[in-house]
Amino acid sequence: MSEQAAPKSKELYRTLDVAEEAPQEEIARQYQRLKTLYQPENIADADARAYASRKLAEIEEAYAILGDPARRAVYDGRPLIVAPDDPEVLYCANHPHTETLLRCNKCGKPICMKCARQTPVGYRCTECIHQQQNVYFNAMGSDNFIALGVGFVVSAIAAPVVGMLLGNFGFFGLIIAFVAGSGAGSLLAQIIRRAVGGRRGRRLPLFALFGIISGVLFGSLVLLIFTGYFLLFNITTLLFTGLAIAAAYPQLR
Ligand SMILES: [Zn+2]
Ligand SMILES: [Zn+2]
Repeated sequence: MSEQAAPKSKELYRTLDVAEEAPQEEIARQYQRLKTLYQPENIADADARAYASRKLAEIEEAYAILGDPARRAVYDGRPLIVAPDDPEVLYCANHPHTETLLRCNKCGKPICMKCARQTPVGYRCTECIHQQQNVYFNAMGSDNFIALGVGFVVSAIAAPVVGMLLGNFGFFGLIIAFVAGSGAGSLLAQIIRRAVGGRRGRRLPLFALFGIISGVLFGSLVLLIFTGYFLLFNITTLLFTGLAIAAAYPQLR
């Protein structure tokens, strides 16, 4: 009676014939060994075969728990924290005193939850993420100013021209603005992207956006000075400009 509670917790270890403190690798090795040993196909005698398949089922059941460190810890009734002298324990590369179970799935460096960044492909360290972004963002320093300049010049010329043209169409101008605004924005984005050699930069879209908006303002101002006509008081031009910017900005990212 008194023996029942304690040894019960060792049952699975007895099934696999390993010590309770056996490391995971040993449990895995023993499991492979027993699996081969009790393979029913290898046994001719019917009774022995039946025994072997029962035994195999027990082994599978035991390994399903002992082979999984988390389930094994629950079975053992101990918290799932790896002992400090266990060679498998990891310490965060940035916080040497923080234990962790995570590794960056790119460089394999141990990282704690504070250092880990979740990406669509799993946890990564911040260094690997920056490195990846640097490959993606290959713009040179001058590209930002090229994008700004090109955005400015093209918008400064296009805004008054488009504004005057659309203004002549009255209500139809509004429809044309609605239809053509995004297309014009895409075209503008393509011109800017070509000007910077197709390279991408972290701040390039912002520089381009600043160039475009100041170009529109400058073009409008010039038109105002020479004709007394202020473009931006016109809903048609506003709609066209808004749609163009909304289309251009995401394409510059
Ligand atoms: Zn990494
Ligand atoms: Zn850390």
